[in-house]
Amino acid sequence: MQAKITVVVGAQWGDEGKGKITDLLAADSDYVVRFQGGNNAGHTLAVSDKTYKLHLIPSGVLYPQCISVIGNGVLVDPKVLLAEIAEFKTQGIEVNLKISERAHVIMPYHIAIDGALSGHQGQLGAGSTNRGIAPVSADKVYRHGIRMGDLLDKELFKEKLVKAYTFNKGIVQSLGGQLDCSFEDIYSEYVAYGEQLRSYITDTELELYQAFKAGKKILFEGAQGMSLDPDHGMYPHTTSTNNVAPYAAVGSGVGILNTPVRVVGLVKAYVSRVGISPFITELPENEANVLRDKGNEYGTTTGRPRRVGWLDLVQVRQAVRVSGLTDIALTKLDILTGFPEIKVCTAYDIDGVQVTEMPASLSKIRKAKPMYKIFPGWDNLGSTYDTLPSSVKNYIEFIEKEVECRVSIISLGPKREQTIIRN
Ligand code: GDP
Repeated sequence: MQAKITVVVGAQWGDEGKGKITDLLAADSDYVVRFQGGNNAGHTLAVSDKTYKLHLIPSGVLYPQCISVIGNGVLVDPKVLLAEIAEFKTQGIEVNLKISERAHVIMPYHIAIDGALSGHQGQLGAGSTNRGIAPVSADKVYRHGIRMGDLLDKELFKEKLVKAYTFNKGIVQSLGGQLDCSFEDIYSEYVAYGEQLRSYITDTELELYQAFKAGKKILFEGAQGMSLDPDHGMYPHTTSTNNVAPYAAVGSGVGILNTPVRVVGLVKAYVSRVGISPFITELPENEANVLRDKGNEYGTTTGRPRRVGWLDLVQVRQAVRVSGLTDIALTKLDILTGFPEIKVCTAYDIDGVQVTEMPASLSKIRKAKPMYKIFPGWDNLGSTYDTLPSSVKNYIEFIEKEVECRVSIISLGPKREQTIIRN
């Protein structure tokens, strides 16, 4: 039976090409749902010579039949979202969007805390994007959070904001920072955002459940990747919301666990990393440039060079286990074309012991040395599986065997048509 529910997640550190694959799979979906993260993780879509950068809006936005949903698990900066909606309108694209009334709102004091926190984290930091993601997540747990639905209820919003503002102003000041906006400024600004977004804010939990019961096709779109998951990733070098596939149920409010689910893990044919953490297969700086430039591994907003390295199957193996991947989409294979040899890390050497599964201990991860299998390179790629050079097929089939998961999608370029689907 073909699954009506598909979840797409990153199996590495993000930037694996989830935007392209989600856009492809969205073609026959009724809903595309973001269930975690915020505007700290964008996607890029390259369609018919146009490039679209998405921050919060799900990657189904380009299909008119598809309803885009920002689920309760997403952290929403309304200012960023409004700008993104306006940008699509300018390009003649009407955004078919629903926003969960339960999604938490990023407020100016969250961004101020992020700013004041930088410098306090040192080598145990997570490389914050300074968008207020960790502070808004903390507020959710402290129960000081403001939710999208609150912006539509002026009285309740005021009551909640009094508590949240006082608490967070104290935090900003205790960290040596300064909060530039007054209570009144924030209140009126965010009431206005609520008004502008009113027609999109709804009970998405219920709507998605009804769609699920009616047999509609729902695609859940993850942001970031396995090693950034706060529970299963390289804590504390992680993000604030879970990004493994089972969180799709929590971050959307749909009980999808009693149905067959297709879970597609995005694996880039090499690895890139933004921010601090051990990176076991990282290329030394003098070797990193070629791969970085070919793969255009520079931050989308900051332009900062990303760290790059060889494919790490210990990392992917963990993603297969934790997310329950049913298949893998292997991306950016074209970037490896022309390299004389291709390395794949199959295990770590930790104090002379061969380790094939990701350790939880940061000290063990810090000591880990990559153990590589080396493949001969290739000079060109075909456009179907059968026409791929045998060295490429050997490489793909080796990955499948090592991580016990099928590679069903192979991406050979940023465009929709540069894709091999294996049935
Ligand atoms: P995400 O963070 O996983 O969503 O990554 P993005 O969707 O932002 O993708 C990163 C970049 O890789 C974008 O510029 C994509 O257009 C590009 N991309 C995706 N797949 C491929 C591919 O197979 N080959 C090449 N060369 N670029 C790709």
